[in-house]
Parts: sequence; structure tokens; C-alpha cells
Amino acid sequence: MRVVVVGGGASGLLASYQFAKNGAEVFLLEKNEKFGKKLFLTGKGRCNITNTADKETFMRNIVRNAKFMISSLDKFSSKQMCLLLKEYGLDVKVERGGRVFPVSDKSSDVIKALVAMCVKQNVHMRLRTKVKKILCTGNSVEGVLLDSGEKITADKVVVATGGMSYSSTGSTGDGFAWAKELGLETTPLVAGLNAMETVENFAKIEGLTLKNVVFSIKNEKKTLFASEIGEMIFTDKGVSGPIVLTASSYVNRENFPLQAEIDFKPALLEEQLKIRLDKDIANLKAKQCKALLELYLPKNIVPFVLSVLQWSAQDKVAQLSKQQRIRFVHVLKHFPLTIKCLAPIDRAIITSGGVSVKEINPQTMECKKIKNLYFIGEVLDIDALTGGFNLQIAFSTAIVCANSIR
Ligand SMILES: Cc1cc2nc3c(=O)[nH]c(=O)nc-3n(C[C@H](O)[C@H](O)[C@H](O)COP(=O)(O)OP(=O)(O)OC[C@H]3O[C@@H](n4cnc5c(N)ncnc54)[C@H](O)[C@@H]3O)c2cc1C
Repeated sequence: MRVVVVGGGASGLLASYQFAKNGAEVFLLEKNEKFGKKLFLTGKGRCNITNTADKETFMRNIVRNAKFMISSLDKFSSKQMCLLLKEYGLDVKVERGGRVFPVSDKSSDVIKALVAMCVKQNVHMRLRTKVKKILCTGNSVEGVLLDSGEKITADKVVVATGGMSYSSTGSTGDGFAWAKELGLETTPLVAGLNAMETVENFAKIEGLTLKNVVFSIKNEKKTLFASEIGEMIFTDKGVSGPIVLTASSYVNRENFPLQAEIDFKPALLEEQLKIRLDKDIANLKAKQCKALLELYLPKNIVPFVLSVLQWSAQDKVAQLSKQQRIRFVHVLKHFPLTIKCLAPIDRAIITSGGVSVKEINPQTMECKKIKNLYFIGEVLDIDALTGGFNLQIAFSTAIVCANSIR
């Protein structure tokens, strides 16, 4: 049996290995000059390979179509992925929140292991080989047409072309276009795990990190998302950091602009803050308001909060009216910002949307309408939060696909 796997990223490399191990003759076609260019960037160059979370937690971290993943996660778990990598010489370690990394902290070692696995199983690995089209007759796949004009016939074709972001890594959305051409349903592509652009200009405090804050987003009717206590950062265009990235995956299909809020003091209720404020005001009477704000906030953000409060930095603490005190406490708990849009999709960590899971058999990743055509990894309409979940989705879908020939 001949299998063509299109795309030599996380899912394509693992599927190629497993298909070959299961006895198929495998052609892995990658358009770049090397394999795993996106993998190289993962986890800030350390590659957060997977996550040790139990199944329930794992599912909670999948933002779209978690149910579709139940079967493939059962059949190939994070534990099995770690064992497989160990077999090929890659030791892993577990960090905060169950995040798994290579002991070496080098994503290149993960790529090396996956490539070595394919080499060991005699996969025909072709670089600089761009697939132009999937060839089908009727409702069955026949092979692929390369950019060079060469045709490669195959019994099975696996599309592992990834998402739409960081296009310089090769993920240019080819698989979505093919799916559409073949008449398959796809859901609109939007950015997931992405920074946000704000109407307010925070360029002056670019790089300022807020720790232990809550970030929430609402529309006219309700709160759409409220983060856990965590970390965020100001950027030249708006906001980013872990809790903002998470928020983006939940609001990416909303109409922008959206109102957002930062709770600078999530551990304290407004009442508690008022008591503390009264004490501080009593102590700082003759000082300027700026000094008071600096007790509660990082110095660099104080001018922004003063501007929201419409106070002057020189105003004296003793002059603050009761109304002003109440307002200050409110702004500490609900600092407002307006989200103009998410950052461009090319800067997103993940693409949300893709080949509809309704088109795919969750046991095998085979397309229901076109026999012997498979979709795995990020090309599918499945996306998860940070923590190694997205790579595990790529790995689990790859293995169940390859094991469907057993
Ligand atoms: C900056 C960044 C950091 C990330 N960090 C993490 C992390 O630490 N942990 C985690 O779980 N996830 C992380 N992710 C997400 C994760 O990298 C992806 O979800 C994962 O790589 C998807 O795997 P894939 O095999 O579907 O696609 P990819 O890994 O993107 O591979 C697709 C491959 O297909 C090739 N290709 C595309 N079109 C063609 C064609 N026409 N012909 C031939 N080849 C083609 C591409 O060149 C590419 O090599 C990160 C993403 C980014 C952008």
C-alpha cells in the first residue's frame, strides 16, 4: 500500500512514521527545505510537546470540537507520545501545569527525533516538494499533483498541511483550499491564541508585564470571557500575554470593537480596597495623587490610570472627594480598554476553524465523502489553549489515522 503524506510538520512526520511502521510505503512531501519549521518555533524554542493533564482537564483545554477528540486521545495519549519519543532517545520533563518539554529544552531535538523515526522506518522523505492539488476520481482519492507537474499516485493521501499562521514556516492554508475545492465543508478561519490591538495607545509602556491580574471581555449584553488570575503584557499595538491569548480564542468570532477590563486587584473585593484606601489616604494626606496610585499599581501604568480617572498627578491626596475615592476603587477593579481587533492571523499561535469535523470520521480521520483521503492536525477545525494541547491534537490525530490500516 502506498501512502502520500502532505506536510512534514508535527502531524505529518508522526503519521508517516506510523504508516511505515504498519507496513505501508510512505512518501512524505514537504515544500520547505527542512522538516518541522513551525515545530522549531514552538514553546519559545523549547517545544511544549504535550501535557500530562487527565482526560477531563485535557478536554476542557480544547476550545473547539473537543468531543471529536475523545476517541483519538483515548487511543493515543500524551503518555504514549512521551514513551514513543523516549524510545527514540528523547527524554522529557514535566513543568508547571503538566507542560512537557524535552530535557534539553531544544525544539530541534524533537524534530530530530521525529525525523529519525521516519528514517528508521524507511519513509521516502522529500523536501522542496510542493503539492499543488489532490487528485480524485469520483469519490475516491488517486494521488497528488506536484508544483513541478509530477504526479504521485497513492492508495491513501493524508493532508497534514497545518494552519494559516506564521506562513513563513510553510503553513499557508493549502489544505483548506483543497478541502473547499473538493466540496468539503470548512469553517471560517480566524486567529486563536493571539495578541489584541487596542484603541488606547500603550506603546509607551510596551513590555510592561502585569502579574496576578484578571482580564475580561464583554459586549453590550454580557461578559464573554473572564480569565483566571494570571499574567498579561502591554505591546506596541495593545495587549498580549497568557491570559490575553486565552481570551482571544474565546472571542475570535465576535464583532469588534469589544470592551475589555483589567482587574488589578482580583484578590480583594471593592469593600476591602475601600478600607485600605482610606488608611493610605490618611497616611499620605499631603502627598500627590501619583504617590497614592503608585502604592497600588506599577509606576509606568499610573499616567494611564490617572487619565481614566481624569485626575491630575499633582492633585493632593487630601483633596480627594468621597466620589473620587469610590471611582478610584472602581477603576482598580475595572480598568477599561477597547479591543479594536485581534492581531493579524499570521501572528496567531493557532488557526481556529478549518476542515469541518462533520466531514471526518473521528476514529480514522478519513474524509466521509472521499474515500482514502485523510485530514490530520491543525488543518482540522479543532483548537486548544496553550500548554502542549495543540501538538498532542496533531500527534493523536496522526496516530489514529496511520493505525486505521492495521
Ligand atoms: C510561535 C508558535 C508557538 C507554538 N508553540 C506551541 C507549543 O509549545 N505547544 C503546542 O502544543 N503547540 C504550539 N504551537 C502550535 C503548533 O505548533 C501547531 O498546532 C502544530 O505545529 C500543528 O501541526 P501540523 O502538523 O498540523 O502543522 P505544521 O506543523 O504547521 O506543519 C505543516 C507542514 O505542511 C507543509 N505544507 C503546507 N502546505 C504544503 C504543500 N502544499 N505541499 C507540501 N507541504 C506543505 C508546511 O511547510 C509545514 O511544514 C505553536 C505555534 C506557533 C506559531
